[in-house]
Amino acid sequence: MSKPLLNSLDALRFDHAFVERLPADPRQDNRRRQVRGACYSLVEPTSVREPRLVACSRAMMERLDLDPALCGSDDFVEIFSGNRLLDGMKPHAMCYGGHQFGHWAGQLGDGRAIVLGDVINRAGERWSLQLKGAGPTPYSRTADGLAVLRSSLREFVCSEAMHALGVPTTRALSLVLTGEQVLRDMFYDGNPRHEPGAVVCRVAPSFIRFGNFQILTAQRDEKTLRQLMDYCIETHDADLGPPDPSAYVRWFERVCERSCEMVVHWMRVGFVHGVMNTDNMSIHGLTIDYGPYGFLEPYDEDWTPNTTDAQGRRYRFGNQSKIVLWNLLQLAEAIYPLVGDARPLEDALQNFHDDYARRWRAMMARKLGFEDWTPQLEPLIEALPGLLKRVETDWTLFWRCLARLEEDDKALTDEGLRSLFAPAWYRAEDISGEYLQQLRHWLEAYLSAARELDASRRRSLMNRTNPLYVFRNYLAQEAIDLAEQGDFSRVHELLEVLARPYEEQPGKAHFAGRRPEWARQRAGCSMLSCSS
Ligand code: AMP
Ligand code: MG
Repeated sequence: MSKPLLNSLDALRFDHAFVERLPADPRQDNRRRQVRGACYSLVEPTSVREPRLVACSRAMMERLDLDPALCGSDDFVEIFSGNRLLDGMKPHAMCYGGHQFGHWAGQLGDGRAIVLGDVINRAGERWSLQLKGAGPTPYSRTADGLAVLRSSLREFVCSEAMHALGVPTTRALSLVLTGEQVLRDMFYDGNPRHEPGAVVCRVAPSFIRFGNFQILTAQRDEKTLRQLMDYCIETHDADLGPPDPSAYVRWFERVCERSCEMVVHWMRVGFVHGVMNTDNMSIHGLTIDYGPYGFLEPYDEDWTPNTTDAQGRRYRFGNQSKIVLWNLLQLAEAIYPLVGDARPLEDALQNFHDDYARRWRAMMARKLGFEDWTPQLEPLIEALPGLLKRVETDWTLFWRCLARLEEDDKALTDEGLRSLFAPAWYRAEDISGEYLQQLRHWLEAYLSAARELDASRRRSLMNRTNPLYVFRNYLAQEAIDLAEQGDFSRVHELLEVLARPYEEQPGKAHFAGRRPEWARQRAGCSMLSCSS
């Protein structure tokens, strides 16, 4: 019989390997500064006026062995707003640097995130609890250390939704309003407004990023760099063996594999991260730092939701694997002083190409309903982008429509195609006979490739690979508008629907539709700024 869940937060057990084994910033005052020779600074969350729970993740509570009923308690809200610390918490902000949009930015660090401590659950898993938006730290530079409800809600819901989609991601435990007002210039146009402040408690094995290594290498601090590397292996990847240069290489290979796996999942579900700077790359291959992200709606490999990147489109959908590789190259350079030999690191990077191509093909095969990739799928997959782009076609819904395709006489008639694909087309009225002919041609080739497959197994594999419900930006914006009015019911409903993204849920059609026309140009509904 499994043990009952913990009914008190005081029963959580913390482990302090990170702060105990790695060097701390000797200063303990909370002033902005350049930190050297340290992996973190001790800093406490700032108290807030009137914390109020918006939502919590039952699934994450249970993962931490906590009774979900605790979410509603005053204790819970006090602790996860940053107002109170539990015995055993050692709050700290991490020091890291990073390349932003391809340029080295120097020290960045947790400017508004504070790790409370690592919980070890009964299964022996390490879960680091981190508050985001809990006040300034030595790394806040010119900003306020706070977060607003709008961006916090987006991060909270999307973390849990991505997990349910099967995409590696940091998790989220809670979303709390602080009762404080925070000034934000959402459009960067000189018209700031007050928005409700919020704090998210994020959860992950660790929040260590590529940038944690990069900053130490930039400071030529090989000693601390080695300590961090050894810590990562011994704490998170102990099966790689005792830390030494060959284990460092194996660790790097593993980071390459995990990052590859992550980006293939992004491509599967149409996720565009939006800000793939090296400080936003987790060493665990987890999607981290949800900012101006988005899910592809009309298919377009050049799309990015981030208005700040609208010119160069560095982080566009179709570029994400290349950027992961570029980021891995920066990580390789950062750990090179420890390895002392460029060859094995170069080999690992070289291998990323083949690994990505292999995983991507396998993923696309499954989207099409095939257990394995076969060369006969190649022309089908190659023709797809042109087909989907010629008329605005929803990336998510296209696959669900395709899964419904039957092999009968009616299916491929003009009428049959119009009725099958109507949910995925943004301008059904513009679909020409010529386009239908092109689509029919593709579908005939598809059905011919699929003729050996059992139809119901094909459909079932497709519907396990291709989600019906994704956290579209306009759905987020609707929930934000309501939450800003004090109505959190939509957040709760979203959490519930998005927890089972592959299953058609009765009465939830609203969450399965394409983006409505009113949302095409509205801020937050398609494109977003970095303001958060
Ligand atoms: P991001 O682009 O959100 O990943 O953030 C890049 C850097 O800016 C990180 O060092 C963040 O901690 C920092 N940052 C972002 N927003 C704030 C804020 N409101 N206050 C302090 N630091 C921030
Ligand atoms: Mg970041």
